[in-house]
Amino acid sequence: MKKNNIIDLIGNTPLIRLNYASEITGCEIYGKAEFLNPGGSIKDRAALAIINNAEKENKINKNGYIIEGTAGNTGIGLTLIANAKGYNSVIVMPETQTKEKKDLLKSMGADLRLVPAKPYKDPGNYVKYSKTLADEYIQKTNGNAIWANQFDNIANMLGHYNSTGKEILEQTEGKIDAFICSSGTGGTIAGVGKVLKEFNKDIKIILADPKGSALYNYIKSKELIMEGSSITEGIGSSRVTANFAEATIDDAYSIDDKDAIPLIFKLIKNEGLNLGTSSGINIAGAIKLGKEIGPGKIIVTILCDLADRYKSKLFNKELLKEKDIPIPEWL
Ligand code: PMP
Repeated sequence: MKKNNIIDLIGNTPLIRLNYASEITGCEIYGKAEFLNPGGSIKDRAALAIINNAEKENKINKNGYIIEGTAGNTGIGLTLIANAKGYNSVIVMPETQTKEKKDLLKSMGADLRLVPAKPYKDPGNYVKYSKTLADEYIQKTNGNAIWANQFDNIANMLGHYNSTGKEILEQTEGKIDAFICSSGTGGTIAGVGKVLKEFNKDIKIILADPKGSALYNYIKSKELIMEGSSITEGIGSSRVTANFAEATIDDAYSIDDKDAIPLIFKLIKNEGLNLGTSSGINIAGAIKLGKEIGPGKIIVTILCDLADRYKSKLFNKELLKEKDIPIPEWL
């Protein structure tokens, strides 16, 4: 197989059977191996769709700037594509995110700006600050800069409609009963869900929401109420983004780290899969769903990225103890 550049490696990821999840539910549960994207996460797809859209609209030219607020993965995807295409990336990230993602961004040459974690309504919030910064860059470059705006730019969900969703439909040959995943921007669940619902409206689209996010209550009762907290990164939201608003969601589960993180450890030891924290929420959700609708159903979820990105949290015995999460015996 020959590829012309790294960008051509984005997408077309395989589905992997999740053996433990399938066996305890009597369902066939598959995970889409998004960690195989060149930037190591599902967010390469959103980054590419956003940049392609900006190019189509003539909003960026050679040496231009891409500015974004991100939990890290979108920044990594944007920086990889920016480097391959001759753009610069300016990445704003809350300082609460793992050192692993910050170090990776720095090593890729991103102009990384860390800001204190603040609620969305605060002007210092990382997303709001990235917009302010983008406006400054647009001014000083005479328009050769863009704000990627992954949360409210629906090029994100359209990217998943045209790639992730279509791939899942093809790979399952349409034999799929339900799709479940968590939401950060909502791009994945909205884009994949749209393809599946257009094919067959009976395919269930379910949200797996971490504690501390308001989306579970939003789906259940239209109220944006947050309860609890989670060590997961890149998922959950306090508001309905433009991408999430595009999603047709049948039901939601609120997933506790105490159920999600032990699954990550189980998959490391028994299936050789070293998955990141949001994948734990997704798989815990898929198991809950399989027990409810199974046996014999086909369920697909997303394996967003790898554990490497969260080593300092996932394999931190003190933190696990503090959160009352069982410590794997090999740590
Ligand atoms: N998992 C991880 C690790 C992520 O970084 C993100 C995006 N921030 C998601 C899941 C959620 O994907 P989306 O933004 O498409 O909802």
